[in-house]
Amino acid sequence: MLSNRQLFLLNTAQTSTSPRLIEIEKAEGLYLYGPEGQKYMDLVSGFAVSNIGHRHPRVLAAIQDQLERYLHVTVYGEFIQAPQVALATKLLAQLPSTLNNVYFVNSGAEATEGAMKIAKKYTGRSAFIAARKAYHGSTQGALSLMGDEKYRAPYAPLLPNVTYIDYNDPEQLAKITTETAAIVLEAVQGEAGIRVPDIGYMQQLRKRCDETGTLLILDEIQTGLGRTGKLFAFEHYSIVPDILLTAKGLGGGMPIGAFIARREIMAVIKENPILGHITTFGGHPVSCAAALASLEVILDEKLMDTVAEKHEIFKTHLKHPIIKEVRGIGLMMCIQLASFKQVESVCKYCAQNGLMIDWFLHHETALRISPPLIIEEKEIIEACRIIKQGLDNL
Ligand code: PLP
Repeated sequence: MLSNRQLFLLNTAQTSTSPRLIEIEKAEGLYLYGPEGQKYMDLVSGFAVSNIGHRHPRVLAAIQDQLERYLHVTVYGEFIQAPQVALATKLLAQLPSTLNNVYFVNSGAEATEGAMKIAKKYTGRSAFIAARKAYHGSTQGALSLMGDEKYRAPYAPLLPNVTYIDYNDPEQLAKITTETAAIVLEAVQGEAGIRVPDIGYMQQLRKRCDETGTLLILDEIQTGLGRTGKLFAFEHYSIVPDILLTAKGLGGGMPIGAFIARREIMAVIKENPILGHITTFGGHPVSCAAALASLEVILDEKLMDTVAEKHEIFKTHLKHPIIKEVRGIGLMMCIQLASFKQVESVCKYCAQNGLMIDWFLHHETALRISPPLIIEEKEIIEACRIIKQGLDNL
């Protein structure tokens, strides 16, 4: 009989020639467990998803409760489904009044796609601006915004009229013109290796968008829901986007995404023609119930209050001659090393010693640190100890 590992390699599509091949049997809180009793502290959170930890009891209870009522009943936008309404209401209550309408989808990429469509229809323009080293999803519209030619080229032609700028360079904001429908930017660049923009840059960006009638779409799919110490990272910059993208950490471990805008912008998809953007499973009731419980956990358990402090604990304990820099914001951090070989070797050592870390799509010389926000001081110290041992071992 073939093992799960063999069947995985044989029957499920592979996204690289070197998958990590770590088998998971169970996950709970900060930890992942393998079939042979392995225990890993999770510093990746399933790529910024499990912000409140794995299988939070309140999320499980909300899912269980919804399972007793209904699963899928119809496509998004027709019936009144209480979990969607409750999630929308709670989420919007946390946001500035201009972000007052939400469309639920299944994933981050779909949120990007929906936002691009409403931006085109609302402005009557078709040009977009995106940043180099950006990642907004793998579908073709989102891929058109991908800031690395290497990933776009094999799938050409993609969307025309996309201009790329360097992230955090105020000089290049002049490329936003009255022809630009929207600029799509990550609130902190994730896959570029955690690049936090200057507050001044973000404020100039907002001003330039206002001057040119360009919509500002902030991708908070990775920064979202508490990871940077605020519910959304735009709060650090004292600006408000026209369209906000969220997914990943929104669902408490269940698949859901959303694009959020003011009612007037969102309204473009409901007529001329009707059904301008539709989805069968978007805003699935079980995902919405889980997302609402997860949001309540973040707020009730005040998980954001200790994020800055935990960032500092990591920084204090991540001192090692091989480390070039520890950077980031809140619990969206990275450890800059010198080469991919070092990164790969430390990741391997950590996995063998009970710690899950990873690297970045566009930046392979840094280690990713994005633990669940529930991580405690003693666990941070233990994680740093294993990482430093991995560095000693190079
Ligand atoms: N935007 C950002 C900033 C992301 O990090 C990701 C996923 O890593 C996406 C969009 C795409 O999200 P999804 O994988 O849910 O389509």
